[in-house]
Amino acid sequence: MKTFTEFGLEPQVLQAITELGFEEATPIQSQSIPIALTGKDMIGQAQTGTGKTAAFGLPLISKINKNEDRIVALVMTPTRELAIQVAEEIGKLSRFKGIRSLPIYGGQDIGRQIRALKKKPQIIIGTPGRLLDHINRKTIRLDDVQTVVLDEADEMLDMGFMEDIQTILKLVPEERQTMLFSATMPPNIQKLAQQFLKDPEHVSVIPKHVSAPLIDQAYIEVPERQKFEALSRLIDIESPDLAIVFGRTKRRVDELAEALQKRGYSADGLHGDLSQHQRDTVMRKFRDGSIDVLVATDVAARGLDVSGVSHVVNFDLPQDPESYVHRIGRTGRAGKQGTAWSFVTPREMDHLHFIERVTRHRIPRKPLPTMAEAIEGKQRVIAEQVIEIIENGELNEYKGLAIQLLEQYDSVQLLAAAMKLLTGDNKKEAEIQLTPEDPIRVKRRKPDLRSGRKPSGYGRSNYGGYNRDRNNSGGRGGYSKGGYGRDNGGGSRDRNYSGDRKPRTNNGDRRPNRSGDSSYRG
Ligand code: ADP
Ligand code: MG
Repeated sequence: MKTFTEFGLEPQVLQAITELGFEEATPIQSQSIPIALTGKDMIGQAQTGTGKTAAFGLPLISKINKNEDRIVALVMTPTRELAIQVAEEIGKLSRFKGIRSLPIYGGQDIGRQIRALKKKPQIIIGTPGRLLDHINRKTIRLDDVQTVVLDEADEMLDMGFMEDIQTILKLVPEERQTMLFSATMPPNIQKLAQQFLKDPEHVSVIPKHVSAPLIDQAYIEVPERQKFEALSRLIDIESPDLAIVFGRTKRRVDELAEALQKRGYSADGLHGDLSQHQRDTVMRKFRDGSIDVLVATDVAARGLDVSGVSHVVNFDLPQDPESYVHRIGRTGRAGKQGTAWSFVTPREMDHLHFIERVTRHRIPRKPLPTMAEAIEGKQRVIAEQVIEIIENGELNEYKGLAIQLLEQYDSVQLLAAAMKLLTGDNKKEAEIQLTPEDPIRVKRRKPDLRSGRKPSGYGRSNYGGYNRDRNNSGGRGGYSKGGYGRDNGGGSRDRNYSGDRKPRTNNGDRRPNRSGDSSYRG
């Protein structure tokens, strides 16, 4: 580990790092920053949450003259949320130096972006689709760009942005520095790098275990119909600071968020069908803690960096082991303890074992929490809150009524009723009906597809062997013959994927061209 002073960064940049509270550089930062500062092209590989933004952001900021009034740096990210997130971090890191950066993404009014561009930002952080829109309108020119960053490159290619990225990169002067960051290095990333990077240095930080050791993982075997009850009990027992609950489909997310609200939890949902404004509102509420349960699809939550997420719940098991790792990685960030639970229906036990094999991590079983534990957990929290109010609160205004009530009722009865009200148990009667989701089916991977997208330490033979096992399991023919899925073989992840992408008319981002990648069925 290195301290940031070792890199020879400007005092204003060091000041920003201090303000952000970074004490030492993360491994990917220690390795990348010195190389990036020399101006060489580079490829950086590290898992999410390892600080890749500052790894490229700090050298980028160092390079820029603050009196510059042209766009000299371009960062491409897969989603608007990531564009906003990266722009925020770069904004913070460059604050004292006085560099101007601007996020550009689909879903936001283009006129507003054009006005913001008139303020002459030096760094643009954008999604490929909207960037191309601006380039075509000539509201963004890339003629002066000296540095290009491809952030979360594997995600961008997964979303079908290969052609857009190629088009954009061809418009940037050849005399430039290009940095590519990615959690995984599938062949299509290597191809892109060969095409556009010059003699790049490789830096990679690959953890031995794909899941961070600080994340406490467990699964609960629970029938589909009882999942909601199990979730409410878990929330009551654990009273998470911030929790992300993953649902498989947009419908699931909507229904679950609504059900949680009905039961009195402060919850909201996030998926690709919401307008940009709605998404921003939900994210803001989650970040500032005014909601404490965020229900989300994979795509909506991918890459989001919210600090302080104490719990992740896989309400529905994800299709891919990678998704599992991505999801649980939303907690246990920045060295904090996190908890990740997965609900597994009896039919999905095989799929859970598959995830265990690929991630090389045994996930311990946990019993379904009982009603009694839930009640106890909830009452404990309320009792703590009541005591806190007694200790700190100004209660005089309430005492008159309290005395009156005590003349009529027994004190224990009164307090119990008040606590029932506080626990929201009067809302417990709310009738909850969720549309059942199909059990996950084991997706057969074609060996040539996305073959590089795998957590480290997993060999292709795992998949192959597993698939063979499944095919030999004879008696369960019905399991793989469809009948559970509505589409033919796409699998719910694919449904999710295509569903979460919005057509160009809605958000200005190009609908990715998926024709080259048959794993996605529109
Ligand atoms: P990645 O892009 O690799 O997923 P991010 O760049 O989003 O990771 O960083 C994850 C979180 O860690 C952010 O909240 C960021 O502010 C924080 N962070 C980055 N570098 C450091 C550091 N050196 N020390 C402490 N926190 C850091
Ligand atoms: Mg990142």
